Amino acid sequence: MRSYFIYSALLFVICGISTGCWNAGAGTKRASREDGPSTVYGINKAEKNPAKTDEVNSVPKTSTSTGFVANLPKGFVEPNDDAGKLLLKEYGSVFIARGGATPPKTVVFRDGGDVAAFQSSLKTSVEKIGDFSLELQASAMESLVKAVSDAHSAGLEIKPRDKDSAKRTYEETIGLWSSRVEPALKHWVTEGKITPEQAERIRSLSPFEQVPEVLRLESQGIFFAKDLSKSIIYSVAPPGASQHLSMLAFDCAEFENPKVREILAKHGWFQTVVSDLPHFTFLGVSEADLSGLGLRKTVSSGRPFWIPDL
Ligand SMILES: [Zn+2]
Repeated sequence: MRSYFIYSALLFVICGISTGCWNAGAGTKRASREDGPSTVYGINKAEKNPAKTDEVNSVPKTSTSTGFVANLPKGFVEPNDDAGKLLLKEYGSVFIARGGATPPKTVVFRDGGDVAAFQSSLKTSVEKIGDFSLELQASAMESLVKAVSDAHSAGLEIKPRDKDSAKRTYEETIGLWSSRVEPALKHWVTEGKITPEQAERIRSLSPFEQVPEVLRLESQGIFFAKDLSKSIIYSVAPPGASQHLSMLAFDCAEFENPKVREILAKHGWFQTVVSDLPHFTFLGVSEADLSGLGLRKTVSSGRPFWIPDL
């Protein structure tokens, strides 16, 4: 009962102070405040509220002008809620993709319709690589095919891990998300860390609405990754936030081979999600240009990852 009270109080506080991609226009049961920008978390930016669409839709001058923020696409909607900001930090490198790539303008797609609209606006191409037919943005695929060819010349292979190693649909990302959330809810109810009512309430939410709820619980040490010891975002991407939806990501079967990683990097494919070892992101530039775009190199598991310098 006491923990429920604390949780409720925390939820109230968080809902009260955050406005942003998960609250704006969500039309949910939460007491979200949608009438103004939040300055609580540092990025002072008016929400992209439909009522304000005439405003200049670009990165605001008031943002902390790191190289990364300055290189976000024109019209990018910077999140100002905790969940959105966390995802920008952890998955955001894709948003500075160049080389003919079209990154999304939001850290999270709201639903399958949003994803389908974005995907259908792209120039894409399909190639059979290894055993699977894969679809990516055209420039990303062109570079991947060159990398595969370079690998062959060096007596190596670059193959997808599975049939969902490139493009994914929103529905596929929901399946992965639920495969982590449901077992974790059961576990934490059994452990007495959340009440059956809380679990039931989270289940009743749309996947989009579940994301900030789950991340809030994680901020209290109630983790949702497969092994329940770390954040779910290091296990699967929240629905709507996967780089695979952008068609600029590729999961490589030969990810442990440093020579393969080098060939992929030479063709603009880099690792950008720390701890997701098979996952490569098309950034479309050479490694020497990444710092200038606001990315910073961090080494984990003996390999470089390029992450937003936020
Ligand atoms: Zn991946």
